[in-house]
Amino acid sequence: MRLLLIEDEEALCQELAAELGRRGFAVDISHDGIDGVFMGETEPYDVIILDLGLPGLPGLDVLARWRAAGISTPVLILTARGAWHEKVDGFHRGADDYLSKPFHIEELVVRLQTLVRRSSGHGGAELAIGCLKLDEQRQIALWQAAGQWREIDLTGIEFRLLRYMMLYPKRILSATQLVEHVYDFNDEKDSNVIEVYVSRLRKKLHRELIRTRRGQGYVLDPTVLLADGAGDKPPAQTD
Ligand code: CA
Repeated sequence: MRLLLIEDEEALCQELAAELGRRGFAVDISHDGIDGVFMGETEPYDVIILDLGLPGLPGLDVLARWRAAGISTPVLILTARGAWHEKVDGFHRGADDYLSKPFHIEELVVRLQTLVRRSSGHGGAELAIGCLKLDEQRQIALWQAAGQWREIDLTGIEFRLLRYMMLYPKRILSATQLVEHVYDFNDEKDSNVIEVYVSRLRKKLHRELIRTRRGQGYVLDPTVLLADGAGDKPPAQTD
């Protein structure tokens, strides 16, 4: 999933971006409020981390501008420890969550994952559809067959792609859209590679899990995951 990090402390920013990248986020960085407003308005982020004390434009004003422009991307604000009034102001301006500095990366990550799941309409504590679930911590898929959960290893891009498609099942997702949510701004983007990764996911999971809509994109079809005894059919099938 695509994440925007707006934070002016260079060292914290680099450290966070690297750590979030390892955990399956495609991270773009901005160091000031004006640039940050623009990026949040023009790129399709799934979640945003916003520091409040920023050069150019304060974080609360950045947030207010997005909300006034109808941008509903979930925003987690970073506040100073004990600054309860900043949290209250943040929620009034449309923040979805907050974290006080200093914080543990684990807490930040679970909060981000929860924000993204909630905003895509998933209520559960994990990303699961029928006999398929994702372990976001370990970046693997789990497939249930005959009551047993079998682990299926995924590469970094396969994990990001499957996670995005599981967040939005039944929806037509174009190759361009998928690329935008799987890769960050600086990555070499080529929407043709999506076909390759989709076909790998079909082979690893189920060949009818992802359907191609010619000229439109791809749809994760949950039917094969929800049918009675769905997982009992062998998941790994070759095309
Ligand atoms: Ca700051």
